[in-house]
Amino acid sequence: MTILDGKKISNDIKNEIAEEVQKMKADGEKVPHLAAVIVGNDGPSMTYVNSKVRACERIGFESTLVQLSYTTSEVELLDTIQELNENDDIDGFIVQLPLPPQINTEKILLAVDANKDVDGFHPTNFGKMALDMSTFIPATPFGILELLNRYKVETKGKHTVVIGRSHIVGRPMSILMGRKGFPGNSTVTLTHSHTKNIQEITKQADIIITALGVPEFLKADMVKEGVVIIDVGITRVPDASKTKGYYITGDVDFENVSKKASYITPVPGGVGPMTIAMLLKNTLLAREKHNRR
Ligand code: NAP
Repeated sequence: MTILDGKKISNDIKNEIAEEVQKMKADGEKVPHLAAVIVGNDGPSMTYVNSKVRACERIGFESTLVQLSYTTSEVELLDTIQELNENDDIDGFIVQLPLPPQINTEKILLAVDANKDVDGFHPTNFGKMALDMSTFIPATPFGILELLNRYKVETKGKHTVVIGRSHIVGRPMSILMGRKGFPGNSTVTLTHSHTKNIQEITKQADIIITALGVPEFLKADMVKEGVVIIDVGITRVPDASKTKGYYITGDVDFENVSKKASYITPVPGGVGPMTIAMLLKNTLLAREKHNRR
């Protein structure tokens, strides 16, 4: 059994990007600039945004954090997005989700300039992805592709089962695994909360990608020997014995499923760290696109 080590691979990717940034600086070029918008001060969202900003600083990107109050109106946020769209110094930006209830998330995602949409959430970019065109791939699915690629996990002709159909993970992952090319060329089954007899489907899978957010949902008796497991889930489970008051776990019963798996991602240290690395990669791509505009 091989652990798909997202911590190591994400560090490799960050080092590769940092090298490119050094070259840009040496050539007198402008370095990539990522902005992040956060509305309110929700704990986990702040943690995610701060780690994205810190990652930018570490690899030599410029970064800007736009922090707005929880009571920000939809019009005010749309104005901020307009400014970021028009700011030529900024190559890409993200709007941290979830947004407060007074703001229509769909409206906000549509307002982001597709050329600066490094999260890959704009319908233009999602459509391009589905049509195999060059575009920003959402960071978490992009990170999974990169893990499969760097460990040379065979995907061609395999049966991939995706659990969860969110717009940011499960749905794009199901499209990407069925694309022509590598990683891809899989036969894909997309499952969700209305899927009947899910264990009958997962037992047939060569590759299982779990993105449902139910701690240790996937048990050893639901998988076959040699299965490849990609666990996207991250859940904070309350635990008074821990200093933070919780521990983090994935959607997979790692201890038992890993005994049957050929490859498996741990939680934490699997898909999670890849997400930030691929956001940086998308920002680098945005910088290149920007140069060509
Ligand atoms: P989400 O929006 O929370 O949706 C969950 C999906 O799982 C839905 O499609 C739901 O089905 C399905 N589902 C729920 N219970 C199920 C069950 N018992 N059987 C089968 N399907 C079930 O999903 P998400 O935003 O993709 O998040 C999923 C997990 O991934 C969370 O733990 C999240 O924290 C984590 N995550 C991690 C990263 C990372 O960087 N590693 C990034 C994003 C998310 P319905 O559509 O029918 O409701």
